[in-house]
Amino acid sequence: MPVITEDAIRELATFKGAAPVTSCYLDVDGRRLLRQQDIEHELDTALRGARARNDGSAPVRRDLERIERFVKDGFDRSRTRGLAMFSCSDPELWHVVPLPVPVRTRVVVNSQPAVGELKSVVEQYDRFGVLLVDKQRARMFVFELGELVEHSEHVDELPRDYDLRGHSERGDRSSHVDALADQHARNAAGLAWSVFQRVGFDRFTAAAPEELVPHLRDLLHPYLRDRYCGRISVSPTASLDDIRHAAADVEARVERDKEAELVGRLRDAVGTGKGASGLPDTLAALSEHRVDTLLVSQGYAVDGWRCGSCKLLAAKGRACSSCGAEMHAVSDVVEEAVETALMQSCRVEICVDNADLDVAGRIGALLRY
Ligand SMILES: [Zn+2]
Repeated sequence: MPVITEDAIRELATFKGAAPVTSCYLDVDGRRLLRQQDIEHELDTALRGARARNDGSAPVRRDLERIERFVKDGFDRSRTRGLAMFSCSDPELWHVVPLPVPVRTRVVVNSQPAVGELKSVVEQYDRFGVLLVDKQRARMFVFELGELVEHSEHVDELPRDYDLRGHSERGDRSSHVDALADQHARNAAGLAWSVFQRVGFDRFTAAAPEELVPHLRDLLHPYLRDRYCGRISVSPTASLDDIRHAAADVEARVERDKEAELVGRLRDAVGTGKGASGLPDTLAALSEHRVDTLLVSQGYAVDGWRCGSCKLLAAKGRACSSCGAEMHAVSDVVEEAVETALMQSCRVEICVDNADLDVAGRIGALLRY
């Protein structure tokens, strides 16, 4: 089963608290935060900010304590790179979603769960098809957010002397063996196609013996060829965990490529006035509802300002440039920008280790106009 479905998110989104609802997203990505104490430090920073913002609210204090206890008690980190936690005391709500993808650490207190980021994670992450072929067997797996959602196998009977092919076999027997290999490749491609038709996937990767690869590629349905993103190196008989890891590596590479492509588009767009880069310009574009896609470097956080009257976000205070009212300081204006973007139904892309975005000011936006 996938970690969270769109239905589950919708259900969470309809929850209304009589007491405040505390939502906490926590980045626990082992590539950035190696030790449990790194995670606790990440959590402490977020909780400190949340406590300062919600001074004196007993229900929020209890929510934050519950979140702190859950994280500090330890959780399975082997497949978790992000946590989404939702807590409310009235009516009672405690919901934890472990995500196999990193998220942007933040705490939001509202009358409803802040599900925007969860939604964008589910929308943006691809379903991955993995086809493993050896001489006799074809195995097909589909993963979604790191979880197995489909597994099918096909086995072809082979003659006992199959491996002697190419040494002494000639004539009819050899062509018979070739015909079997051809049939097997067809069956493998057919298996992938039937799984695609049944459950669908956005990306496709495969592992097969060298000699089978070109033939197999020719046999794939064009839909699958379009989704193909290179081979993985995993044994056709590998364990499910090894296959999952190999697929996750390809998925991470595809994701980094996608981010790099977006940052490239941002660079071009800034040149033609269809993009904004750096905090002040990006916040201005967000306030004008011009943002299509918001790009943020993972881990970027900085203090800034929000206008209590017209909600404008700004890097510099204290007078609002739009309505002239006095703005109040916020501990992390990037967090507010992400929340605002999600509320405006913008696409939000958190970019990991993208030096070009870092150089461009760690935040930027592709604009609608
Ligand atoms: Zn204002």
